[in-house]
Amino acid sequence: MPKFVYDFTEGNKDLKDLLGGKGANLAEMTNLGLPVPPGFTITAEACRHYLEHGTLPDGLAEEVNAHLAALEKAMGKKLGQPDDPLLVSVRSGAKFSMPGMMETVLNVGLNDESVHGLAAQAGDERFAWDSYRRLIQMFGKTVLDVDGELFEDAVEDVKRARGTDDDVDLTADDFKELVERFKTIVREQAGRDFPTDPREQMDLATEAVFESWNADRAILYRRQERIPVDLGTAVNICSMVFGNMGMDSGTGVAFTRDPASGHQGIYGDYLQNAQGEDVVAGIRNTVPLTELERIDKASYDRLLEIMETLENHYRDMCDIEFTIERGKLWMLQTRVGKRTAAAAFRIACQLLDQGLIDADEAARRVTGDQLAQLMFPRFASKVDGVKKITKGMNASPGAAVGKAVFTSERAVELADQGEDVILVRRETNPDDLSGMVAAKGVLTSRGGKTSHAAVVARGMGKTCVCGAEELDVDVKAGTFTAPGGVTVREGDVISIDGTSGDVYLGEVPVEDSPVVRYFEGELSAADGDELVVAVDRVMEHADAKAAMAVRANADNPEDAARARRFGAKGIGLCRTEHMFLGDRRQLVEQLILAEGDEDRQAALDALEPLQKQDFEGIFAAMDGLPVTIRLIDPPLHEFLPDLTELSVRVALAGDGADPKDRRLLEAVTRLHEQNPMLGLRGVRLGLVIPGLFGMQVRAIAEAAAARKAAGGDPRPEIMIPLVGAVQELEAVRDEARAILDGVKESTGVDVPALVGTMIELPRAALTAGQIAEAAEFFSFGTNDLTQTTWGFSRDDVEAAFFSRYLELGIFGVSPFETLDREGVGRLVRIAAEEGRKARPGIKLGICGEHGGDPDSVHFCHEVGLDYVSCSPFRVPVARLEAGRAAI
Ligand code: PEP
Ligand code: MG
Repeated sequence: MPKFVYDFTEGNKDLKDLLGGKGANLAEMTNLGLPVPPGFTITAEACRHYLEHGTLPDGLAEEVNAHLAALEKAMGKKLGQPDDPLLVSVRSGAKFSMPGMMETVLNVGLNDESVHGLAAQAGDERFAWDSYRRLIQMFGKTVLDVDGELFEDAVEDVKRARGTDDDVDLTADDFKELVERFKTIVREQAGRDFPTDPREQMDLATEAVFESWNADRAILYRRQERIPVDLGTAVNICSMVFGNMGMDSGTGVAFTRDPASGHQGIYGDYLQNAQGEDVVAGIRNTVPLTELERIDKASYDRLLEIMETLENHYRDMCDIEFTIERGKLWMLQTRVGKRTAAAAFRIACQLLDQGLIDADEAARRVTGDQLAQLMFPRFASKVDGVKKITKGMNASPGAAVGKAVFTSERAVELADQGEDVILVRRETNPDDLSGMVAAKGVLTSRGGKTSHAAVVARGMGKTCVCGAEELDVDVKAGTFTAPGGVTVREGDVISIDGTSGDVYLGEVPVEDSPVVRYFEGELSAADGDELVVAVDRVMEHADAKAAMAVRANADNPEDAARARRFGAKGIGLCRTEHMFLGDRRQLVEQLILAEGDEDRQAALDALEPLQKQDFEGIFAAMDGLPVTIRLIDPPLHEFLPDLTELSVRVALAGDGADPKDRRLLEAVTRLHEQNPMLGLRGVRLGLVIPGLFGMQVRAIAEAAAARKAAGGDPRPEIMIPLVGAVQELEAVRDEARAILDGVKESTGVDVPALVGTMIELPRAALTAGQIAEAAEFFSFGTNDLTQTTWGFSRDDVEAAFFSRYLELGIFGVSPFETLDREGVGRLVRIAAEEGRKARPGIKLGICGEHGGDPDSVHFCHEVGLDYVSCSPFRVPVARLEAGRAAI
């Protein structure tokens, strides 16, 4: 039988799967000799059993008995003992941090008798009764599903009767009254009495924590953060220490470095005479941690020492929760801290300089997603005509502009209508998650950098300004006021700067980030910007390690040039149909509708010089680097007039209809396809419309010859799309080769060109061995390959049913975003292997959207592709991930 319970002395930081992050790190700190209140952890495996069967696993109760007995022995008192009670906290803690998403119950073990024992031991009646009412409140809400507002209303009632709006003014008698009121609320709402048996309290709280794994907000958070649905949470049972035993007590949260900038130092918030969640919830305003030096120097010094121990031990920035009980410091939690993208790069380089990690590890510590975040635009530094109305804390960087909304529901509603919104709240709580996901940014008037809003926003990479205390937020009225008589109503546009904390009324223009300017070559590491220096160092190492090259998907000289500045080593996909948009669409329409050879040739003749010009520009931008040009692959519906519109026009005109429109309608009706993505496109179109591919190949060859004659170094690669059978490819290849030879002869310039194909149909992947006989390279078109492997239309399904599929866990992320390794990935592997067997050294790349997706880039590295190709803006991300994949 598996072991379901671990004492803190038995675990360690590597047992996160079993003990969750919190439990594993409590064990690690215990073993480091740090002051952790004794306790034990019930494993996530027990939780999984409970969630699956609805009952606790056999043997768990006995194990808990034994560990509780050991804990009682160590503490010299029993759980809920009337004259001197041992009290425990029951806390959730999954493998991945899910801040505030699951449940916690504190002060377990208090009842009508032990509350007196606690009062006597603490010499403080008020404290004991406050602790007791907190237990009933948390227990009622978490375990017995009582609406938390009812408890809060009762507190407000008592405060009103006392004529105060601060908890601190409430007396022991007030809390006694609240205990009675709370018990009544529980009885009325839950249909049962608050349980007075300490062990029953502990067991019920444990089950409630297990169940909170499947709370709505936890499910939503997991989906957002891509955390697997079936991990379950561990439960930590820890002897209570009290931060609310007077002004020599308190509770705080700290980071060993600034989680926003990465700067070394002491960052955090402290709250005197407060318990547990008060800091994280952002309900009361905290003081900066540095103030603790003045309040309690001994504890402050000890805390600094512990923070250094932790950084050196974890070799990373840590965040911690601690409590001071009457001058004694206790560590309640630590973990490797969440950080902003900029901090991740800076911290990695600082730790590298400190000799705590090596360059490989530094590259492992950052991600392509973080780099992408750093490339987001930011506010222009000079803002004219837009009023700055206040400044809050810079909790999560970025620039966000949108309409102010005051509830999560409204945020979701407007975002669904395509509006950009900023969620404005007094403070956020975990129930606001859906609104935070929907909003461009979050603004709160209360709470520090470690408040729920700040922690969650940073995790999501969402812009957040918190603790803007000058704002008076009135959620019911849907307004907030700022100094100077400013009133902002729902729908008014505001701009928030998560990097500086500034809040503006109106729309602030945005500008490129310094990281983009660095990639553009406008800014260099020598200019001294700390972030740019860090990015430069990491990128240099990643490039040195990468086994794959990164190319770009670009169809015009400007994009090609930008991609090159961003580090692209060529073009992996030039979609020639994109060159036919705008004015030239007419010519394509003419070509498709041509009634005879003459008509067709006229259209082709008009297109050829335009194409040649395009290619020359692109070859120039990518001089000396390969340029893969894909012959035209237009889903026909994108190039012909809309059938319905045209039918209406002809019908309305009746007998007077333009004869040209009639002819067009006839042709469009003939060519209309139910599923154009699977219709007359790619190589099929090339085989059906004589001369079309030939024209393109000639334009490519002549452009290359002209470039070469002018002293350039063009490296064309001609790519045939949507091939399913080698015969299709052979026909087009033979035609292309003949044209290439012809141009060589007529111009006297020899430009070698590869001819290859896309692998974007399952049949092509499965017959890759044959296809490789005729192809000099493969490029995996994983957009179409995903569509055809799953049988999902890439145009429609995301809106139609993907959200349901994500909910059901059929996939954790859209297969159009991250390559489906098991299905589509298997086809890619088969094709790569068979292609190489048939043609050793065949060049292999990918040009579907997955080429810029971090996880998919790692997959491509595993399969051994030669390059990935992605949109120009994603090139740096792909470079970084290609390097990380090789480390
Ligand atoms: C693909 O199918 O993956 C591809 C790159 O081609 P397109 O997206 O143009 O169909
Ligand atoms: Mg395709």
